[in-house]
Amino acid sequence: MIVVMKQHATPQQIEAVVKRIEDLGYKIHLSRGEARTIIGIIGADDYLLNRDTFEVMEGVEKTVRVMQPFKVASRDFAQEDTVIQVNGVPIGGEQLVVMAGPCSVESREQILETAHAVKEAGAHILRGGAFKPRTSPYSFQGLGEEGLRYLAEAREATGLPIITEVMSPDDVALIGEYTDIFQVGARNMQNYSLLKALGKQEKPVFLKRGLSGTIQELLMSAEYVLSQGNMQVMVCERGIRTFEPATRNTFDINAIPLLQELSHLPVIADPAHGTGKWSLVGPVAKAAVAAGADGLMIEVHPDPAKAWSDGAQSLTIDRFAKLMDELRVIAQAVGRTL
Ligand code: PEP
Ligand code: MN
Repeated sequence: MIVVMKQHATPQQIEAVVKRIEDLGYKIHLSRGEARTIIGIIGADDYLLNRDTFEVMEGVEKTVRVMQPFKVASRDFAQEDTVIQVNGVPIGGEQLVVMAGPCSVESREQILETAHAVKEAGAHILRGGAFKPRTSPYSFQGLGEEGLRYLAEAREATGLPIITEVMSPDDVALIGEYTDIFQVGARNMQNYSLLKALGKQEKPVFLKRGLSGTIQELLMSAEYVLSQGNMQVMVCERGIRTFEPATRNTFDINAIPLLQELSHLPVIADPAHGTGKWSLVGPVAKAAVAAGADGLMIEVHPDPAKAWSDGAQSLTIDRFAKLMDELRVIAQAVGRTL
């Protein structure tokens, strides 16, 4: 349930409602919007609460029962879009965010070269995997902490915040010493112990849709993080598995506007994993921006033919720079900046 306060509710009235909720044994999430304050009641059995308990209190306008199974993630919970600030980079606002970099960190030189190049082309955040979820145990598994150190060095050199994947709750502390954003990969969308661990720390979480995850399951996974108190969650459409083998995955463009209807969380598109083919990355990236995505994650490699992972879907530096120019035009057409 959410409690919507009157427009001119006083801090004392808000405090009294918060105390009442806490006394009843529930957690709260306070959202101070431009117009009014909304207090979310967090708890599995909030349906047991009587609406009158709050509606009779001073300063309360109304209560709303959130019908969706995801509560804090739902649009009912916060009408305004969530904007996450990462070292001065806003994610979810008018400005589109572009996260670019190689699939895997392969060497110090490779990540530094890519970081400088994507920054030059206008990217806002540097991506790179150090702990890689590979289909085969015999494939390159990532450089581990060495990769994290190179990423941190690239941040130092360029000022770009970094995002990297975490696969296990055991790695949250270590990766948290380096990264600015935790990426949860498609294969871990329903790794609930990982989601809970990420909900208990303070850095933003980038949650990818599972290979066969429904939109509702994606938002339920986001809810796992949110329900632990971490409100900085963004969700990512990265393609789903369908009957079509001609592309690596089928990019679900519907997911972008639908997620935005259902949720206030920023929605990012990943056309690289969504297609698996570099020549399709640009067209699908443009479609995603036109459909209202809040940002893009794009794999870029100085020499894709030699990439240790996902070379086929990685853009060269030149192709990425050209795509950024094309995206600026689309962004402007849909009222966004890049
Ligand atoms: C990645 O971003 O490199 C990755 C492994 O993505 P996904 O989890 O979407 O497959
Ligand atoms: Mn990849």
